[in-house]
Amino acid sequence: MAIKPRVIYWFRTDLRLHDSPALAAALDLKPECLWPIWCWDPHYVYRARVGPNRWQYLLDCQQDLSDSIARLNPKSRLHVLREAPQTLLPKLFKAWKVTHLVFEKDTDAYARSRDEEVMSSAREAGVQVIVKYGKTLWDPDAVVKANGNKPTMTISQLRHAGEKVGDIPRPIPAPKSIPDPGNMPLDFAQTQPAPEPDLNSIYRTRKENSYEKLAGPNGDFAVPTIEELGIKSATTPHRGGETGALAVLDNIIKNEQYTATFEKPKSAPTAFEPQSTTLLSPHLHFGSLSCREFYWRVQDVVDNFKGKASQPPVSLTGQLLFRDMYFAAQAKMGWKFSQTVGNDHCRFIPWHLRSKVDGPDGLVTGEYNIDSVEAEEWFQRWKTGRTGFPWIDAVMRQLKQEGWIHHLARHSVACFLTRGGCYIDWERGAEVFEEWLIDHETACNTGNWQWLSCTAFFSQFYRCYSPIAFPQKTDKNGDFVRHFVPELKDFPAKYIYEPWKAPIQDQRTAKCIIKGDGTVQTIDELPAYPKPMFDFSTRRDICIGGMKNAYRVGLYGNSPKVVNGSWPSA
Ligand code: FAD
Repeated sequence: MAIKPRVIYWFRTDLRLHDSPALAAALDLKPECLWPIWCWDPHYVYRARVGPNRWQYLLDCQQDLSDSIARLNPKSRLHVLREAPQTLLPKLFKAWKVTHLVFEKDTDAYARSRDEEVMSSAREAGVQVIVKYGKTLWDPDAVVKANGNKPTMTISQLRHAGEKVGDIPRPIPAPKSIPDPGNMPLDFAQTQPAPEPDLNSIYRTRKENSYEKLAGPNGDFAVPTIEELGIKSATTPHRGGETGALAVLDNIIKNEQYTATFEKPKSAPTAFEPQSTTLLSPHLHFGSLSCREFYWRVQDVVDNFKGKASQPPVSLTGQLLFRDMYFAAQAKMGWKFSQTVGNDHCRFIPWHLRSKVDGPDGLVTGEYNIDSVEAEEWFQRWKTGRTGFPWIDAVMRQLKQEGWIHHLARHSVACFLTRGGCYIDWERGAEVFEEWLIDHETACNTGNWQWLSCTAFFSQFYRCYSPIAFPQKTDKNGDFVRHFVPELKDFPAKYIYEPWKAPIQDQRTAKCIIKGDGTVQTIDELPAYPKPMFDFSTRRDICIGGMKNAYRVGLYGNSPKVVNGSWPSA
């Protein structure tokens, strides 16, 4: 008699039940038992930068998924297992007599190497592996192939390649039932322990998060709370989970006018409560919303819309194309995509402050540049919202507090840090975004930082965002600044973006003195707000000059030696 399948369904980037091709494939096996599991991966615990807001968002998604599974089958739920998948899964294959392992494809550089390792141990154990893509509109590897085996560096390359790959699949419905999980013996004594992956020694260099703390206090497989993880409380108002994601999408789709005529460049970066774009990015990141569900729900509205609908790339579906473009670029370039060193598509710019980069072997392959002391000070002031430019500071404070900022606000602060103000390496900024964004996605974060720093994807470096004129376009009164930089809340609208220009008497009336570098909190018992850390137009001109020179020299990827501050000749 044929053995009925005993399936582990490994949730990773797909914390949902709706439109999950991988989950559907697992259920199509008509398993005798199916274990829905999540493994804490030391890579994300130790090595990735994850702030409390993203941790909370992840736990929300896990809990919501677990509850939804339990609603379909009260005997089941999401089982959260606290060990690296590379070592844990081989043990489970034997102990649980697993026949199949099923998961959603992940083309992130680290994920690929992890999955290779897991698949190889599955083969050794005679376990069949089923992998389905579902995180993007098209399979990034298929897009790369259709693009002549090259990374997609423009939206038109992505669109042409996508057309060759084929129609974007229609979403599939959520399952109506989930099989029982089998027994879960965890006595691995009789099984051969799998060797520790070599990379673990590198992961353990990040000591501040103790992996031991991640063991649940109740000794079960329940989704932990943030307190149980020993992580400080989140400050974001945004909550994760498939149930919430689908409700937000429903609301957007109900507003046909908004859905069909959405134009990203016309949306206000200064809008908050509510924001002017969908804020679905963290749901797409954790897979609590399927991007194909999103795409087709929008496209159906557009197809039936009586008025003039907007078109890609500015339309809502166009936004998802950008996402696919970055995923396919990363799929082709692997770990090199996320840094300048070794990346043939990324321009080398002799930034004042450059990033230290870990090569794949853990070696430091980058270098620090000269001028770094003053630039480091600028970097710290940018990061902590103390630049003295209220628009920049408000955005950075929103980012730290809430974990999400509008796309054009990301443009402003990224341009300011790199080619439009500080002339600091985009990799330093990307690291801050990595830690604080709740929607942090390596492919999208890297690609957009390269775009904004004009190192790849975009090259119009003479177009800079003014921290004064740009926010004024959509928020003359400065309500956004007043909310996130409350020291300035009583400043007259005339000075809200340039408070240093206000006469001292106006500063006293507004109960805030403009002085210092932001480390001084009060002056004469009044709150203080810093002076601008540099003259913006002077810095912009210096940056444009530097970019012109770097474009003229035209180096990519490499890290040439900067000797005594001199720039290598062409
Ligand atoms: P909407 O405008 O409603 O767009 C719908 C969806 O399309 C988004 O949810 C997102 O998944 C996708 N999308 C929209 N614009 C882009 C874009 N330019 N690139 C890729 N996908 C896009 N997005 C991330 O998802 N993760 C990141 O880590 C990230 N880092 C960024 C860093 C910088 C410097 C910049 C300039 C942009 C970054 N973005 C990132 C892209 C973009 O800013 C966000 O996706 C968007 O602001 C999310 O808000 P939303 O869901 O309301 O977007």
